[in-house]
Amino acid sequence: MKIAAHARTDVGRWRPANEDAHIVLDRSRVFAVADGMGGHAAGEVASRIAVDIIASLVQSADDDATALERRLATAVDQANDAIAQAAEATPEHAGMGTTLTVLGFTVDGSAGAFAHVGDSRLYRFRDHQLVQLTRDHTWVQEQVSQGNLTVDQARSHPLSSMLSRALGTQEDIEIERGPVQPAPGDVYLLCSDGLTNMLTDAMITEILSNNDEPRTAAEQLVDKANQQGGRDNITALVVRVDA
Ligand code: CA
Repeated sequence: MKIAAHARTDVGRWRPANEDAHIVLDRSRVFAVADGMGGHAAGEVASRIAVDIIASLVQSADDDATALERRLATAVDQANDAIAQAAEATPEHAGMGTTLTVLGFTVDGSAGAFAHVGDSRLYRFRDHQLVQLTRDHTWVQEQVSQGNLTVDQARSHPLSSMLSRALGTQEDIEIERGPVQPAPGDVYLLCSDGLTNMLTDAMITEILSNNDEPRTAAEQLVDKANQQGGRDNITALVVRVDA
């Protein structure tokens, strides 16, 4: 299986700095998006530590889907420890945290896996259907799951961005993980909430339908999010799988 990827990130139109980070490891077929938070530029530090840990992740040619999934989850757990330690070492970084969503494929590209904490997202786009593979670890999403809020109420809720899980803020973090079974023609989108808060699923679907190239898809997604308001930092990482 051939895998091509491209990422674009943008500060957006409201925020003074970009606290998102991402990494595209073409060779090891690992891709990640992180969205940092914390004062005194600490969000940038946290998201950078997270993707740097992913960059140092060692892949083995022997990995099957299960081993890969475990490896990705272990790396996310290491990122959690590294951010907590860095926060302890520098008082003005206290309380910093980040989301982290990682997608990886085995060396032959026949199988994949993800690991995830926070409200960045992983989508699969297949046969013109956009499916969110990750859950949002937010307070409002928990309320939706429990039937206390509707999806529409959650979207416009004042606490919509409050995370229930973030790396660096809890010693023992529950990591969401799962397998990904790639098929030729699949497109995977990793993105920060600065994209999904500005664009509807229909808008994302239209852009992915009209752009086979990861580069133009990522660019158009970010441009559209800015046109729709650009209220937060925006990151779109598009991965295309071909036979
Ligand atoms: Ca964000």
